[in-house]
Amino acid sequence: MEETLELLGQGVEAFRAEALASTQTTSASEPRKRFKAIKRNQLMIRPVDVEKLVEEDDPVRAIWMMVSGLDWSRFEDDVKVVEGGKGRSNTDPRLLAALWIYGYSEGINSARELSRMCSYEPRCQWLTAMEEVNYHTLSDFRTKDKEAQDDLFKQVLGRLSAEGLTELKRVMQDGTKIRAQASGNSFRREDTLREHLKLAQEQIEAMGTADSEELSQRVMKARQRAAQEKKQRLEQALEELKTFEQDRQDSEKAARVSESDPEARVMKQPDGGFAPSYNVQICTEVSNKIIVAVETTQAGTDYDELVHGIDAVHANTGQTPEQMVVDGGYIKNTNIEEAAQRGVDLIGPVAESNPAASLKKRGVSPDFYPDKFRYDGQTDTFTCPAEKTLTFQRSSRRDGRIEHQYRAKAADCEVCPFRDQCCLKTSPRMVIRKEDSEAVKAFRAKMQTEQAKQIYRARAEVAETPNAWIKAKFGLRQFRLRGLRKVGIEAIWACLTYNIRQWIRLNWKPRQAAAFAAAGGV
Ligand code: SF4
Repeated sequence: MEETLELLGQGVEAFRAEALASTQTTSASEPRKRFKAIKRNQLMIRPVDVEKLVEEDDPVRAIWMMVSGLDWSRFEDDVKVVEGGKGRSNTDPRLLAALWIYGYSEGINSARELSRMCSYEPRCQWLTAMEEVNYHTLSDFRTKDKEAQDDLFKQVLGRLSAEGLTELKRVMQDGTKIRAQASGNSFRREDTLREHLKLAQEQIEAMGTADSEELSQRVMKARQRAAQEKKQRLEQALEELKTFEQDRQDSEKAARVSESDPEARVMKQPDGGFAPSYNVQICTEVSNKIIVAVETTQAGTDYDELVHGIDAVHANTGQTPEQMVVDGGYIKNTNIEEAAQRGVDLIGPVAESNPAASLKKRGVSPDFYPDKFRYDGQTDTFTCPAEKTLTFQRSSRRDGRIEHQYRAKAADCEVCPFRDQCCLKTSPRMVIRKEDSEAVKAFRAKMQTEQAKQIYRARAEVAETPNAWIKAKFGLRQFRLRGLRKVGIEAIWACLTYNIRQWIRLNWKPRQAAAFAAAGGV
């Protein structure tokens, strides 16, 4: 058989050579030009020096050096095979982690793609020592244990801190929306979800009674598994719908959740559009732009994320940042007070409340806006534009400030010629005097200083650097996995990779260059 193939191969080559010769114009006196034959019908064995697959200063060596120095005991809990014992050896968690970190740094976040790369890509081949790594192994390792991945992130932070790359004097927090796997069309109301759940249940029951001889056992099991997963997702979507309905404020519209990724939320995007996404909160220290905390949430806005950010930094580093710098999306009175209570110096733009929009909507004339009412601190009363007195009613605490209510006499407003411009349907007229807490007053005063303004101006460059890296360099514009826990793990891997890349740039490469120079290199 082999001989026949070889003869066939030779015959084809001879035919090609003849055909080529017939197209060339050669004179009878000139011999035909000769070229190296291209022989593809052969097997070759070449020795490979695995160590030489990558250069001495290749970043993949730094990745391996970093992961080799970490404690992997948390990843060894499930490993049953021991040295000298029976059974197949497990893949080293250091290798799997190094492959993922290298993969993310190259914009690869697919287990299948990474597994394929192990068969041809020199850096992956160097890491694996030319062994194959199954994509199931890679995939399971990435998502198995969120706590272990968190611990890995902390360990790397600890290494960076020990090498003097982090300091928590000033930390900048920013959120970035990363698209979920779910499409906008997968969002359903409760009645539709229940209908689809019923259909999924019927499908599973029908499978149980189907004549399985028509299908192989493998195909049958795969279909059953897919149907079960669909049913579970729909059940989870109904549960998620309850939570979502409790949390959201615009309760007039019927709540909808995705049946393919129930924990994804429709969020406003930087381009002004809306898409199913998760909100990734990143805290970055200023000295070397190292990420010191990463949290993934379902919140569409950043208002409630500041305190979580401060606590996450503390959990990762054992320290509370001295100063947190955030944009206007995080500034509200309760956050200012919480930061002050934790001893954190908060820097951010002062939010000015503007009641004009709601008054205009209610038809109040600008001549009767609150600033046209005179306050007298001695009598604690307001005087309206018609020179009538509004007296104090009560005080209440709202959004971190005290609100004092003052009301005009009903008898005055009922006969007032300006009533249509001032009170409209609400009679008598009420005015609210807002009093900030000491922490908010101090924050407002601080933000008037040039020093605070200068610190804030530097925010965007630092806070947005990791976001840009993760999206533009690592290609994480859309999560590959589904569910809050799993997308949180994806975010951790991307941030871990970012930190290791920073370490390579700041410490490992300069050390390599110094060692090369000391060895007499040019
Ligand atoms: S409606 Fe009442 S509060 Fe308004 S101007 Fe007249 S008296 Fe004053």
